[in-house]
Amino acid sequence: MARIPLVVGNWKMHTTVAEARALAAAITRSVLPAGVELAVCPPFTALADVARILEGSAVGLGAQDMFWEVAGAFTGEVSPVMLADLGCRYVIVGHSERRQHFGETDESVARKARAAFVHKLTPIVCVGERLEERDARQTERVITRQVEAATAGLSAEQLAHLVLAYEPVWAIGTGRAATGPEANRVIGLIRTVLAAHDSAASKHTRILYGGSVTADNVAEFSQQPEIDGALVGGASLDARKFLAIISGYARRTLA
Ligand code: PEP
Repeated sequence: MARIPLVVGNWKMHTTVAEARALAAAITRSVLPAGVELAVCPPFTALADVARILEGSAVGLGAQDMFWEVAGAFTGEVSPVMLADLGCRYVIVGHSERRQHFGETDESVARKARAAFVHKLTPIVCVGERLEERDARQTERVITRQVEAATAGLSAEQLAHLVLAYEPVWAIGTGRAATGPEANRVIGLIRTVLAAHDSAASKHTRILYGGSVTADNVAEFSQQPEIDGALVGGASLDARKFLAIISGYARRTLA
């Protein structure tokens, strides 16, 4: 089953509007390799400006979070309708920084994932174990719980279009990436969990690796058969480094 690799840049809480515009322009000005899908997820404040720069390019737009309700008295929240209106194609859901600092739970992640599909957004659902869970050999249990919760209530078609990102918390922003075989093994486990839900659909679901991916280590991940792309934080803030990561996945497509 050939799944098209997807590389997504998560700009986190970085970039003023002017900086976001410059970064988006630098990416779209570059020669983007074929055979890889791309997206960037700027902060909410820059989505509208970046949307205009990406128009007509091969780079998709994503948001870093959203609420599940369409509208209402939810001060500070952003709805899926608002994101779709700006031209977003993707939305990151359940990033570990949101689970850790903002009270995101398995249940809220599932509600957001379902709401994203209703509004024709592709959720990029993040799962990953914390260091103490890994040390206690609980990785499989934690990942299984997170994936089962996030996919509960999704149809087979939605499951096929879902994007998951395996992001071990200890690897995010630390410079300490998982090894390729390690990430491949956990992503294989995730696909097994999805297959119990719907075997045919699980073959289409793209599952990315995220956690300190750089131009120097991308080959470690892009060569693994279960890993369908990357969710990139720090390195996505530099157009040159981000493009080098994208090229790493393009080489796999051509191989
Ligand atoms: C992330 O923010 O999802 C991420 C993986 O960050 P970094 O690449 O900086 O580890």
